[in-house]
Amino acid sequence: MTAPVTSVEIEAAIRNVPDFPKPGIQFKDITPVLGDARLFSGAIDLLTEKHAPGSIDAVVGIDARGFIFAAAAATQLKAGFVPVRKKSKLPFTTIEQDYALEYGHATVAIHTDALKPDAKVLLIDDLLATGGTSAAAAALVLKLGATIVEASFLIELKFLNGREKLNGFPVRSLVVY
Ligand code: AMP
Repeated sequence: MTAPVTSVEIEAAIRNVPDFPKPGIQFKDITPVLGDARLFSGAIDLLTEKHAPGSIDAVVGIDARGFIFAAAAATQLKAGFVPVRKKSKLPFTTIEQDYALEYGHATVAIHTDALKPDAKVLLIDDLLATGGTSAAAAALVLKLGATIVEASFLIELKFLNGREKLNGFPVRSLVVY
């Protein structure tokens, strides 16, 4: 049997790309983790390790890289997968949530029938930065009456204090910068 993947190994595989998509941004490229079979499945094991299969009803993933981890986590936990998407991408009736960006604002949406009111949800995205995106996604989950058991991230940029926007449920991240 191969040794369990550690967050140190995941951190070593994450590629930092300076000045992408614009000057001053240190982009955390997770594609080397995805492309390595052991690291990808190990990352899913770590993201889901606190939860027994069957204890989560739905894994909510955030557009777009969050989908990759959330969908894999959902199959591991025997849970459904629910997308939170950027505005105007979902085909059925939606509820929307605005949030502030550095310049301007953005909107995320969820289908109105995506979650049962009593659903137990694991919220997943690839990266927690300022927390605006995941706080907006969390607000949508709560508006549908579901409960957030935990929000899990592969990466957290701690210096941006995103955690402060995520109140009332546990927040976990595998690799912290
Ligand atoms: P925020 O709303 O500021 O927490 O930003 C989180 C979202 O933006 C996540 O969905 C990330 O995929 C993306 N993101 C923000 N900063 C970075 C970064 N430095 N590298 C890669 N993705 C990022």
